[in-house]
Amino acid sequence: MTERMLKFVDTGQGMPDKRAAGERVGDFDEIYKEFAVKRAEEQAARCSQCGVPFCQIHCPLHNNIPDWLHLTAEDRLEEAYEVASSTNNMPEICGRICPQDRLCEGNCVIEKGFQSVTIGAVEKFITETAFDRGWVKPVKPPRERDQSVGIIGGGPAGLAAAEQLRRKGYQIDVYDRYDRMGGLLIYGIPNFKLEKSVVERRTRLLADGGIRLHTDFEVGRDATLEELRQKHDAVLIATGVYKAREVKVPGVGLGNIFPAMTYLTASNRKGLGDKVPDFDDGTLNAAGKRVVVIGGGDTAMDCVRTAVRQNARSVSCLYRRDRANMPGSAREVHHAEEEGVEFVWLTGPEAFVGKPNVKAVRAFRMRLGAPDATGRQAPEPISDSSYRLDADLVILALGFDPEDLPVMFGAPELDVTRWGTVKVDHETMMTNLDGVFAAGDIVRGASLVVWAIRDGRDAAEAIHRHIMARAEPARVAAE
Ligand code: FAD
Ligand code: SF4
Ligand code: SF4
Repeated sequence: MTERMLKFVDTGQGMPDKRAAGERVGDFDEIYKEFAVKRAEEQAARCSQCGVPFCQIHCPLHNNIPDWLHLTAEDRLEEAYEVASSTNNMPEICGRICPQDRLCEGNCVIEKGFQSVTIGAVEKFITETAFDRGWVKPVKPPRERDQSVGIIGGGPAGLAAAEQLRRKGYQIDVYDRYDRMGGLLIYGIPNFKLEKSVVERRTRLLADGGIRLHTDFEVGRDATLEELRQKHDAVLIATGVYKAREVKVPGVGLGNIFPAMTYLTASNRKGLGDKVPDFDDGTLNAAGKRVVVIGGGDTAMDCVRTAVRQNARSVSCLYRRDRANMPGSAREVHHAEEEGVEFVWLTGPEAFVGKPNVKAVRAFRMRLGAPDATGRQAPEPISDSSYRLDADLVILALGFDPEDLPVMFGAPELDVTRWGTVKVDHETMMTNLDGVFAAGDIVRGASLVVWAIRDGRDAAEAIHRHIMARAEPARVAAE
């Protein structure tokens, strides 16, 4: 092994500089600055090049992390980019928003007492360098094929599949009901985690590679699933999950109580320069308001941090379990606390009070009881613990379920699970309809970008095998 590596002993862990909380709450720009070349190389050199790299095993894409860290440490950045991009269609995006503490970095085995290699930040650095130096090029298939694939949904699952299939020369059409491609990368995740120009740069690259992107095209409204099946040799469903979970307490229908995606989409659209009447008239703008966000996942973290940046008077996050049992990334909770968000642990909503608009949340304290069927301790309300929390805007971030796809697509024959996710054969990724595949959140339920990319890549392979299996007998018969 090169002498350049194993530097974790005398080089401490370092992230790119983070902007001070006081500065970053004044805008929606990303909070981390870029690594300078020397610093990225120093950090990459901390890797001990494990024989069995647990970081790689726990990356859903099985990225060849030790190799690209080694190449970075040796200043062979173009090769590092080749390796990093060979397993990941969006390394600059994963480097920014993967919950690395639960994935690659959380499993880095640098000796106890030393902190993990900053894998995500190096991955972002390598890919940003590649963009700056012109190494990132649109797909150029070695040959064009006649067969076409229709992809419903232009989020990370659909776009990763599109790129992989285009590499093999297929004619690709991506249909999305929104006016921009990117799915939750554009309208869910806020700019301070992932700047929209980063997503738009990726989408442009796909269009330049010959992928046809159809925006404002809703399957179910502008075409049925059956029509797409007639038009294409295979169809991929990658529509994500968007139905907000509800909380069943009195007063939930009062004014100024909104689902998280309504609130975040308005903020993201505003940042993109769109006209957003509900934001401009103050309805979906937290400025000057006492904001209460209910939920403990990453979506809740995005809402509280958005509200802080909109100059809310106060921002509280109510979560029914404690910090240790929160589903959101610990790093995001830490950022939110730095930015002035108050976390109210072990607390649940009992009722919303006011008329016609919400004026307060009546909340009760909770304790963690016996573990439930999943092994997690179930929260139980403490009697007589009810209290009032004043609120002018309440945001519900309790998770997402799938929409009713068989109804939406006019395809009652499409099999779904009892949770409404699309049923696939996990070997072939095909649904019960011949030539119709599915990938991403619509199969797994709300998950992560990196898993959507992984599913999109796997679906692309499965679609290729399916089309080849069909083409082969026809070719043999013709000969
Ligand atoms: P989506 O990204 O949801 O894309 C689906 C696309 O399908 C959408 O563009 C939609 O318009 C389109 N579509 C739906 N129905 C139709 C139809 N009938 N016709 C045409 N098009 C249709 N993950 C992380 O890894 N890190 C994070 O920090 C993170 N933060 C998040 C923050 C928020 C607020 C949310 C909501 C999610 C976050 N996630 C995060 C999760 C991540 O965004 C998703 O797991 C991922 O985007 C799923 O990808 P997908 O392609 O399956 O679906
Ligand atoms: Fe880590 Fe995500 Fe990159 Fe994999 S894709 S190496 S999990 S940051
Ligand atoms: Fe390097 Fe850590 Fe991965 Fe080992 S686990 S190869 S030290 S990044």
